[in-house]
Amino acid sequence: MNAVTENVSLSSELDMSNYWMPFTANKQFKAAPRLLKSAKGMYYTTVDGRSVMDGCAGLWCVNAGHGREEIIEAVYKQMTEMDYAPSFQMGHPLAFEAATKVAEVMPAGMDRIFFANSGSEAVDTALKIALAYHRSRGEAQRTRLIGRERGYSGVGFGGISVGGISTNRKAFAANMIPGVDHISHTHSIEHAAYSQGQPTWGAHLADDLERLVALHDASTIAAVIVEPVAGSTGVLIPPQGYLKRLRDICTKYGILLIFDEVITGFGRLGKATASEYFGVTPDMITMAKAINNASIPMSAVAASRQVHDAIVNAGPDNAIELFHGYTYSAHPTAAAACIAAQNIYSREGLFERANQLAPKFQAAIHALRGEPHVKDIRNLGLMGAVELESRPSAPGTRAYDAFLNCFQQGIMIRFTGDTLAFSPPLIVSEAQIDEIFATVKKALHAVA
Ligand code: PLP
Repeated sequence: MNAVTENVSLSSELDMSNYWMPFTANKQFKAAPRLLKSAKGMYYTTVDGRSVMDGCAGLWCVNAGHGREEIIEAVYKQMTEMDYAPSFQMGHPLAFEAATKVAEVMPAGMDRIFFANSGSEAVDTALKIALAYHRSRGEAQRTRLIGRERGYSGVGFGGISVGGISTNRKAFAANMIPGVDHISHTHSIEHAAYSQGQPTWGAHLADDLERLVALHDASTIAAVIVEPVAGSTGVLIPPQGYLKRLRDICTKYGILLIFDEVITGFGRLGKATASEYFGVTPDMITMAKAINNASIPMSAVAASRQVHDAIVNAGPDNAIELFHGYTYSAHPTAAAACIAAQNIYSREGLFERANQLAPKFQAAIHALRGEPHVKDIRNLGLMGAVELESRPSAPGTRAYDAFLNCFQQGIMIRFTGDTLAFSPPLIVSEAQIDEIFATVKKALHAVA
């Protein structure tokens, strides 16, 4: 243990005033902090020495479990060899190797990889590529971007504009990027409550895109972006046939389809991508989080060759084709971590493992039906949600209390609004799945 970690080992000794925490009730948190200190495998250890099982893979991202030696060694080696190299007009081999590794698990033909550092940046990158693509083909008037209600596409101005979560938008409403519209979300407790896996009802909701085409005209629309499974809004599973229908409508009108796979990428549904799982291939995929097991900030956009070539082949060889990129795009240590994580995924067959565990996960989460406050349960692969009845005039507080109760019992889960969300690392055991939901059951009985 070094001096710094020793110094902060007790929350009472910490000065918490300087750190302005993201997506956190700062005053509430600092009055009763939850501080994690170390992590290995399925478990965190808190600063006061308690073991807490990770029921949500950090923030849906640590798919291979915590503290993987292979990643640590790769990062250490790279840091020692070359801490940083610019990615503009310069390159380093690991950037290319990481792109090849990622391309290997993308759907066929979606193998042109642009690196960024967060899901939000990946989304902004994909939106900009969509605009550049149409411009390079002589359709510069295609500037409209279509998102989906309840979608979460990060927190950049692009992401909140196409996103559909009102709390993330309202303070910035006047400054959204112009020309954005939204199709309706697919969640319906009335028609699809307690669906196990994909709801059978709701494919027709994809036709909402036809409404926007009729309203705006296809010639003005550049791209549609959706999460194949909407994660952060509370795990909304696409109805059977919905994504295929969306794909068909986009193809019919020359609109690019972007799947935001920041959560679903790298095994969450039992395949490398949700695109592969659903058998629907978009034109671009955004990814982040598990791309390198969340060990170093990194994200990427996978573009189809058609999209890539239209932009890259448009001008002379000595001209920069896309005026976009980040200082840390393909950062050497992030790239090293990416290669190591991808090696772990394939060597340990973790995507297939998630696939095999999915029926167990489904049975365990749906066993909570009938427990106090539960009004819906949803699942696919190793992601799931339990939606609770909100307390009258105090929305969100019941889920928060359940989350807190679980944490006190030694399990970390997520909550959003009054929905509890689950996405354990893909190394989770069947016994641990049982333990997660047994703990949640106790929490549901404990909260009012
Ligand atoms: N897109 C989706 C689907 C996400 O779930 C997230 C984050 O959870 C993002 C984008 C934004 O990623 P980041 O927080 O890395 O910017």
